[in-house]
Amino acid sequence: MDSKIKIGIVGLGLIGGSIEKCLQKNGLKCEILSVSKSQNRPYQLQDLVDVDILFLCGPQDTIKRQLEEIALIILRSGEQGTIPEEKRAFAKTLITDVGSTKTNICTRADELGLENFVGGHPMAGTEEQGYESSFSELFGGCTWILTESSKKTELLEQVIKKDLGAVSIVVMDPVTHDRSAAAVSHLPLILSLGLGNLLNGIPQAKQIVGPGFKGMTRLAKGNEVLAKEIICANRNNIKEVWKIYKESIDSFLEISNGNLIEEIESVKKVLC
Ligand code: NAP
Repeated sequence: MDSKIKIGIVGLGLIGGSIEKCLQKNGLKCEILSVSKSQNRPYQLQDLVDVDILFLCGPQDTIKRQLEEIALIILRSGEQGTIPEEKRAFAKTLITDVGSTKTNICTRADELGLENFVGGHPMAGTEEQGYESSFSELFGGCTWILTESSKKTELLEQVIKKDLGAVSIVVMDPVTHDRSAAAVSHLPLILSLGLGNLLNGIPQAKQIVGPGFKGMTRLAKGNEVLAKEIICANRNNIKEVWKIYKESIDSFLEISNGNLIEEIESVKKVLC
């Protein structure tokens, strides 16, 4: 960053807290204003009207509510006819979020007429939650999805790559994002829940759980509020990729013994 910019963060949980910690560590030339109940920060959303970038980092329902609040603040500021357009609330702010699904949030932003909103989703995380579990290296080497790349996202893209350490930015429309995230993120979550649930049906198996099962059920131990939101918002896409996955499992089980090694190797190749 060449000159001092102002960054707002709303919600200091795992993701928001990590953004703040990382910027504090690396983004020496930025001023950070964070809104956080749990961390008793002195700011409210209405104090962030002149930031350059605003990260909304709460649960998805909260993000939608905050978009509504922002739209109202903008409307009220416009009603005070004496304020020039460029000085109105959030006039120079690029608003973004980190929610795990995008269609619901981007649609709401569109409905509210928030032209300065661009959806975002860092493909980073852990099964932990809250500020205490956040850390400055969380985004190092991750892919960060944005729903748009244009002149207005230049500064945001710079911050994501240079200051937060993402290795790449992938631009994807919300619908493609949700379908893709269903395959690589949300189905794994459901599979992890389903696998964990197997232990309710076969309790004696719990005694012999090893690292493979532990690894594959790691996601099931995560944040249930976020898991619920993901399933509710992206259920149809998850169902669709589950169908493809199920067919793939079924076909694996039907492969003749002689062809199994070849098939396994073809999967290993696609994973490289
Ligand atoms: P988290 O650790 O639970 O933090 C969420 C924060 O949001 C809380 O610490 C709280 O911040 C605020 N919040 C929670 N409930 C709220 C409410 N009802 N009203 C207002 N604020 C509320 O969750 P997270 O893992 O950081 O996830 C945040 C967002 O990132 C979600 O939208 C999720 O889909 C997305 N995401 C998560 C991951 C992941 O692996 N966890 C990965 C990518 C994207 P304060 O107490 O500071 O106000």
